[in-house]
Amino acid sequence: MLKGRTAIVTGSTSGIGLGIARALAARGCSVMLNGFGDAAEIGRLKDALAAEFGVRTAYSPADIGDAAQVGAMVEQAVSELGAVDILVGNAGIQHVAPVEEFPIEKWQQVIAINLSGVFYGVHHVLPHMRARGWGRIINIASAHGLVASAAKAAYVAAKHGVVGLTKVVALETAGSGITSNAICPGWVLTPLVQKQIDALAAREGLSGEAAAKKLLGEKQPSGAFVTPEQIGELAVFLCSDAAAQITGSAYSIDGGWTAQ
Ligand code: NAD
Repeated sequence: MLKGRTAIVTGSTSGIGLGIARALAARGCSVMLNGFGDAAEIGRLKDALAAEFGVRTAYSPADIGDAAQVGAMVEQAVSELGAVDILVGNAGIQHVAPVEEFPIEKWQQVIAINLSGVFYGVHHVLPHMRARGWGRIINIASAHGLVASAAKAAYVAAKHGVVGLTKVVALETAGSGITSNAICPGWVLTPLVQKQIDALAAREGLSGEAAAKKLLGEKQPSGAFVTPEQIGELAVFLCSDAAAQITGSAYSIDGGWTAQ
């Protein structure tokens, strides 16, 4: 379905981004991976993805919070893979603290990566998409792009910002063959959430399993984690012709979190 297409998935060396990269590659899409981690391990991941799905892969170590590095990543994708048809803005971090204790540098870092980084990516890929008259921008926001939780000021502000930015891009690209949508996941069991489970377990003297159950119980009525594979399939759908008129939307995939 996506044979001949090319995607950049930011933050795809782990978790949700990797799930999306795999789902796109499985449909024949060439993929540029991005994110941090052990260089040899990332090299193996890149080669394994190419071998498993018969697609071209590339890797950029760009820090998504740095506008110049994001620009260089887009140019690298165009020169190594030939184009950028799909941009998945997924890289993100979390920091948990009450507002009055929230370190200023943590606020700045979360906003730089989770919000400004999404803008940098869209800013740099849009000219390439417009030239080809087709494009898919998919931003990974969060349930926290729609509702708030205590102690997550920077993350909630950034994710609400991502939903707003996604809508502006949808309006500016309407009718051009380019769509812009956000995906708003609930809890997904990735390293980002494992850290929060470990902190809860330590704080309340719970086992890992009990802490995970408590975390889900507080927010996610289904009582089960969303998986990176499920988010990958939603991203694939948003890239399909069936989704050509879906733009400016924020898709919840959250086990009922935001239905409450
Ligand atoms: P993760 O920690 O497993 O993966 C994050 C990825 O981003 C990694 O590849 C990491 O190397 C990369 N990254 C971090 N900082 C970066 C930077 N400055 N530049 C480039 N890459 C960077 O996290 P995840 O849970 O897979 O989260 C992915 C996205 O999904 C984030 O935007 C997160 O906010 C969002 N999200 C996660 C959940 C969840 O429950 N896990 C829920 C809703 C939304």
